[in-house]
Amino acid sequence: MELSLITTPWLSVRFKDGTQGKLAPVDINNDNVVDLVANRADLQGAAWQFMIGLLQTTLAPKDSEEWRDIWDEGLSSEKVKQALLPLADRFIFGESSPSFMQDIEPLAGESVDIALLLPDTPGSQAIKFNKDHFIKRDVTQHFCPHCAALALFALQLNAPAGGKGYRTGLRGGGPMTTLVELHAIGDQQQIPLWRKVWANVMPQDVSALPVPQSYDASVFPWLGPTRTSEKDRATTPVQVNKLQAYWGMPRRIRIDFSDVVSGSCHLCGAISDQLLSSMKVKNYGVKYECWEHPLTPYRRPKKELSEKFS
Ligand SMILES: [Zn+2]
Repeated sequence: MELSLITTPWLSVRFKDGTQGKLAPVDINNDNVVDLVANRADLQGAAWQFMIGLLQTTLAPKDSEEWRDIWDEGLSSEKVKQALLPLADRFIFGESSPSFMQDIEPLAGESVDIALLLPDTPGSQAIKFNKDHFIKRDVTQHFCPHCAALALFALQLNAPAGGKGYRTGLRGGGPMTTLVELHAIGDQQQIPLWRKVWANVMPQDVSALPVPQSYDASVFPWLGPTRTSEKDRATTPVQVNKLQAYWGMPRRIRIDFSDVVSGSCHLCGAISDQLLSSMKVKNYGVKYECWEHPLTPYRRPKKELSEKFS
């Protein structure tokens, strides 16, 4: 099983007429698509950050004037294809390597239930001590490839502390994400999705995030050997491309694409004969330090402020 997360329709969306379907990111400029509709809040947040990160990484305008031009004239199919199609084989999700948001090498780690991609699934400790009172064990077991890719991305974005060497997300565990929402230009339900995403894409001169000449593991960490964090080795924005903020990979994971069953996906209900069930995990993934994420607000500690202004 193998799909490209650029050219495969895999993100659940709503169309202008109220029906739902799937969108391939390379078709983001379709005016008929008005919203992303994942069926869990964390997956919805991940879908937004996937699209925003993708456009920021490939199509960010040089300055606010260019931003405005696109706002006025629209994103042309040609422009989007030119920017995204070269990434199609860097965003493969499947059994060959590299595979989106996973270690490039096979992991000699522990094999666990794929349900552990969701932060509310009780871990082995909770089950062992019979502590899964509210969120029951064995409720979510099999994910379709589309939901698995999104859940994997959501975990890499939001990873909570997970035991010795299991790193948190680039912004710490359970970070706050703030997005710009459009209200003032007519019916919110009918605004094309690409506009809602574009509102969150920053000009390169403001963000100090230049669109790279080429895309390698410094931007998309799954394309190369993982910068592991044994002995607390950290990864700072100086050591890799700052755009990695959108694509952080604190957890070392390999989904087992040979362990598939037929049935309906426990997350979205889709019938599939390729439901994924298990994955290998290993500690000491990337330990991010000194990062400021473009979509997260920061404040200075009070002490530092008072020193500065006293
Ligand atoms: Zn699904």
